[in-house]
Amino acid sequence: MAEETQPCPDCGTLVPFDPRFSPWCECGWNLEPPDRSHEWNAPSGPGRIYRALAAARATKLFEAAQRGSPERPRWGLEGTLLLGASSLLVCGMLLPPVGGVLLLLEARESPILLVPAIFLLAVAVAFAPRPGRLEKESLTSKESHPRLHDLVRRVAAELKVDPPELIAISADLNAYVTRVGLRQRRALVVGLPLLALLDREERVALLGHEMAHLANGDLTRGGIVHLAIHTLTVWIYLLEQPRPLDGSGIGGYAAWLVMIGASLVPRAMLWVLIHLSYDRAQRAEYFADRLGASVAGTPAFVGLLERLLQRHILELAQQRVVHHTTDRSVVDELVHLVHDTPPRERERLRRVAQLELSALDTTHPPTAFRIRLLESHPVEGARIELDAEANAALDRELASAAARIDRELVDAFRARLYPLRR
Ligand SMILES: [Zn+2]
Ligand SMILES: [Zn+2]
Repeated sequence: MAEETQPCPDCGTLVPFDPRFSPWCECGWNLEPPDRSHEWNAPSGPGRIYRALAAARATKLFEAAQRGSPERPRWGLEGTLLLGASSLLVCGMLLPPVGGVLLLLEARESPILLVPAIFLLAVAVAFAPRPGRLEKESLTSKESHPRLHDLVRRVAAELKVDPPELIAISADLNAYVTRVGLRQRRALVVGLPLLALLDREERVALLGHEMAHLANGDLTRGGIVHLAIHTLTVWIYLLEQPRPLDGSGIGGYAAWLVMIGASLVPRAMLWVLIHLSYDRAQRAEYFADRLGASVAGTPAFVGLLERLLQRHILELAQQRVVHHTTDRSVVDELVHLVHDTPPRERERLRRVAQLELSALDTTHPPTAFRIRLLESHPVEGARIELDAEANAALDRELASAAARIDRELVDAFRARLYPLRR
């Protein structure tokens, strides 16, 4: 069967045409379907200055990483400022409860103080610092998931770090280490959709990267920063209601405007914190990549990064399941779609990654830079191997979470389609 083609509108070359994917040409035509939905993102929009700055910063950090030895990223001046700002913020959060309690004590003499005291205490409750938490059903144990815990322990031992105290399985196409709860226990969260896409070597690479964040002490030093950032995010979420509360007329509208205005304060604070942590976060990612590659080998690590370039396919899988155009589960559909992606579409994604302009508010360096850095210092063999039999056993363990993850993915997609029917 002859392959269908169409001429490129820019240079006239005949390019292959596959109705499932957007066509593109070697000359660069249509590599990335343009997203001009927002003025900020238009090619000549105000965002271009910001994007140029971000790209320059990312390039500088990449070049430094390529020259430098894979030493641990240092804390530095921005780090000190970041720590200072975060500590100030967390201390500031203590003012309303302390003030509230003091006023309450005073109120025994002059009862009128009861009004501001109650107000401050209400503020204290609404805006208290929030430690991160994990849903109980997402947590695994050594008994329920022995293979997963064993693999994490082996990778951690290879990198000479204490393994995380908690391991959770989430519905994200992602993985991360974090601290949770009042005791601030170290937790690894791995997304089932991501694990499902990875082969044995890539799974080791992923865990290597995450354990490297522990080896680097990113969580230890980042604790108070993390708390500040997490709390600000919750404040923004509480203040930024999408529309005036119904049935409340002009009063409700005014209150809504005040809340939107007030949300600018935590937004600005978050902006400062994220930008102060930018360099350090990027260096930490490069460091974690190198350590991850030292455990799993460079080819496996690059394979992992290329899988992540296909993460947008998760949304397509969710859509197909919600619209009943497939009988598979979301994760199975995702795996099917990803394995069914032709080489030409993978090449397009690789080229888009090369063009990807960094943003100063992302936590990871551009994928193309990460791949280039790894390939310039290749590590051939793997120090940790997951044999086929152990991998199959791991898959059987993970299957126990499949039904829950599928439900979460379907619900999340429906909630985005019908945001008002919560
Ligand atoms: Zn062309
Ligand atoms: Zn990372």
